[in-house]
Amino acid sequence: MSNRSVSILVKMEKNMAKYTCKSCKTDCDDITEHMTKVHKFSKWIMELQLKTNPNTYKNCFEKKV
Ligand SMILES: [Zn+2]
Repeated sequence: MSNRSVSILVKMEKNMAKYTCKSCKTDCDDITEHMTKVHKFSKWIMELQLKTNPNTYKNCFEKKV
């Protein structure tokens, strides 16, 4: 299992990006964390949805430059 190294890579990538949640107008740099903590989404549901459509949550967030 190389889950650990993958999650580190994802974290590095996320640290460079900032997003604004369109539904609650809050800034965050981790979409998954924001959705689970603020909107009470389940992580496994998000992962399932992202597998079906990787853009599922991009529509809900505005990427900041
Ligand atoms: Zn939000």
